[in-house]
Amino acid sequence: MYFQNKREFALALDSADKLKDFRNEFLIPKHAGKEIIYLCGNSLGLQPRPVKKYLDEQLSNWENLAVEGWFDGDSPWMFYHKEMQKLMAPVVGAKPEEVIPMNTLTVNLHLMMVSFYRPTGKRTKILMEAGAFPSDQYAVESQVRFHGLDPQTSIIEVKPREGEDLLRTEDITKVIEQNSDEIALVLFSGINYYSGQFFDLEEIVKAGHAAGAFVGFDLAHAAGNVPLKLHDWNADFACWCTYKYMNSSPGGISGVFVHERHFNNGSLNRFAGWWGYDEENRFKMEKGFVPQQGAEGWQLSCSPVLLMAAHKASLVLFDQAGGIEALREKSIALTAYLEFIIHEVNRSAGREQFKIITPREPHSRGAQLSLIAEKDGKKIFDELVNRRIVGDWREPDVIRLSPVPLYNSFTDIFELGQQLEEILGGNRSV
Ligand SMILES: *Cc1c(COP(=O)(O)O)cnc(C)c1O
Repeated sequence: MYFQNKREFALALDSADKLKDFRNEFLIPKHAGKEIIYLCGNSLGLQPRPVKKYLDEQLSNWENLAVEGWFDGDSPWMFYHKEMQKLMAPVVGAKPEEVIPMNTLTVNLHLMMVSFYRPTGKRTKILMEAGAFPSDQYAVESQVRFHGLDPQTSIIEVKPREGEDLLRTEDITKVIEQNSDEIALVLFSGINYYSGQFFDLEEIVKAGHAAGAFVGFDLAHAAGNVPLKLHDWNADFACWCTYKYMNSSPGGISGVFVHERHFNNGSLNRFAGWWGYDEENRFKMEKGFVPQQGAEGWQLSCSPVLLMAAHKASLVLFDQAGGIEALREKSIALTAYLEFIIHEVNRSAGREQFKIITPREPHSRGAQLSLIAEKDGKKIFDELVNRRIVGDWREPDVIRLSPVPLYNSFTDIFELGQQLEEILGGNRSV
């Protein structure tokens, strides 16, 4: 792609942007009366304007119908999740019955491991990427201990090669092969939260299955960011939070995928609750758990309607924007422009002030770029915040910046570059 470090150029890209009007569907915080430049959708997405309306509808139903709201009104709570399934499925490449909104991410990771981490005989290990998000590490560690095993010996971590920041697919599949008779579960993130690397999930599924293991994914940084094909790739399960790229509210409801081939797999354990019980007979309140067909059968508690409503607001925007494929097209261009601008900042500073550790190839990354500052990383980050530019800082030394196609503009990126050049005292380009 051809880019220029000029305001008119960024403005021209913005005016040609088919998705530009979606920015008006979001509430952008202000500092001292001026809108901030928000590059932190990888951590908490902005609030979609329609969220209030979606919440208000359910508050009115509660007000006017009270308990009758479960079965009455224009969107009975008992079936509210079914609309959600239809909207969630295309975002992750699943059939509607393969996905369900429920709980929160770490809780769902545990529930999925109850079903898909079944250490038996020699096959007791979990293989994951080194440097996975801490909650995932703790969840895996505690699952291993729960089965009476030792995390030191039962968790295999795949690390980048000496001197490299990223994992090579061939190294991941090699470690899977080398341990093929001992791995019970391969659990990978879709996109690593720190480096922004988007893994080749299809290859990981193939290698994991060839080794006789289940394969599941934590898609916290991938869902709503990059197109996924969970069904076609044959993943066994996946879960994700929805408050990052899917703007569902802080601590919003999580999503789960279970491949349809497992719907009737009676050999899988599940921790059951009444909301996973066969819908037709749920209120007979009989003994003996009979699961509802589909991912719905993994639900435990009655659904948190307000959290679903908040999430639905954003899912409808995804749909109106033309789906994840349309968003991805803009996202690839925005992130490439961000990469170009960071190189411009380095050029004007006369040194590699920022090293981008995220892969260069668009198919190996999503929206996010992770930058390591040559020096003063935290100071530069704080100075950006003073100048109304919000990214996020990850210990020990990374600035993560994520332009989000629904609400970020090319001018946001241009402005970031101008501010960085000022902070570094380089020459301002015009
Ligand atoms: C954000 C994130 C989480 C957060 O988990 P919660 O249970 O929603 O707090 C977990 N795992 C990964 C990989 C994440 O990126």
